[in-house]
Amino acid sequence: MILRQQKLFTATLILSCIIFLGTWGSAEAQGGAVRLRLPFDGVRRITAYVDHRSPGAYDGNMVVYHGEERENCPGSGTAWTTQGPYCYDRHRGTDYALVLVPVLATAEGVVTLAQNQGGTIGNAVHIDHGNGYETRYYHLHSYSVAVNDTVSAGQQVGVSGNSGGQPYHLHFEVRYNGQVTDPFGWRGNWTDPIPGGPAECLWGDGQCSEIVIEDESAWFTKKLPGWQWYHQGYSWTMRYIGNMSSTPYPNWATWRPDLAYQGVYKVFAFVPAIHGTTTNARYVVHHVNGSKHETETVVSVNQSMYDDAWFDLGTYRFWDGLYGYVYLDNITGEPNGTKELSFDAIKFVQFRMFLPAIRE
Ligand SMILES: [Zn+2]
Repeated sequence: MILRQQKLFTATLILSCIIFLGTWGSAEAQGGAVRLRLPFDGVRRITAYVDHRSPGAYDGNMVVYHGEERENCPGSGTAWTTQGPYCYDRHRGTDYALVLVPVLATAEGVVTLAQNQGGTIGNAVHIDHGNGYETRYYHLHSYSVAVNDTVSAGQQVGVSGNSGGQPYHLHFEVRYNGQVTDPFGWRGNWTDPIPGGPAECLWGDGQCSEIVIEDESAWFTKKLPGWQWYHQGYSWTMRYIGNMSSTPYPNWATWRPDLAYQGVYKVFAFVPAIHGTTTNARYVVHHVNGSKHETETVVSVNQSMYDDAWFDLGTYRFWDGLYGYVYLDNITGEPNGTKELSFDAIKFVQFRMFLPAIRE
């Protein structure tokens, strides 16, 4: 029986490998691949995603790269204070939380614009990467390149800022043949609604294997009153609540993604730098075992030890959305009301992206 499971697992990996290679192949078929690095060094939080449903036009709703839909999004205002990262109707780019740090070219190319665009854009840089791809960097504090400059991947093009009357952040945008596209590609299990054809994964470092479920997501459910909200955490939005030593009626929440691919995922919990003081947050990962039967694994996290960090909850197999979710409640065993638990983003990373490690 064990041997059979190993064979199945190997077969799954080989199949995944073929799918994986096929994905890259189609990206190149689209017109010569561009491979992007991040427009900054280090780890930064995403504060808003590309709207796959009519980016650039208000239509009242939004679709995120992993397939989540949100109806009745307001059409204006600051994304993370009034709408959340999942409801930024008509957003054309990805926003990152950056304050006055170097902004880097995401691939080699030629600068086609470097000037103050006014309006809500402010200081902007555009780079043409060939093969129909262009990247744009908005709201810069300053830019350090000029039109017709040739830049290499990772070369500094400016400093992030708040121009265009924005809060400090970097708006990073990719165009393909003039149309807005999403460098995260499309992870939904239905047809990508983005105009101009399905978005392709353009990141060169495996970020497209990630699905992040925020506490603002429709795929996040919380129960019982008493929740607190705070303007920090992964997308500058987080929940927290006081602990209980034990009770039959805890506050609880689940993160339940609609995973497009059944298979093996690494699961991470984002622990914000604030309001997570418990030493025993018990995350319960619901997954399937080798026989596809639902099971659960409890992982205790000392939230007080982590500041804006992804905690690795382990590697698990998920068979479909029903059997792939994370649960957390506020029972910690510590004396009632002496600690707080933070409830922020949960990230699912497809294990097949780590295939090179087993190729030998
Ligand atoms: Zn933006």
